[in-house]
Amino acid sequence: MWTILRKLGLMGLTFFVANALAAIVSVAILFVRTRRVTAPMIGDRCPVCGVAISGTAKYCSDCGSRV
Ligand SMILES: [Zn+2]
Repeated sequence: MWTILRKLGLMGLTFFVANALAAIVSVAILFVRTRRVTAPMIGDRCPVCGVAISGTAKYCSDCGSRV
């Protein structure tokens, strides 16, 4: 490991660190995107009357229909 880095020198080490950072950042972006996509969108509005309701509510506060 260290012999390889010594052979590559400072430029090689910088390239190695940059690659590692780029990999970590891309994984982090992918993780955030996946979380955003799988986030539940149902529960924001009543499907019957369209009134805004809280995500935890099971019934519409306005018309009383199940959401
Ligand atoms: Zn409603």
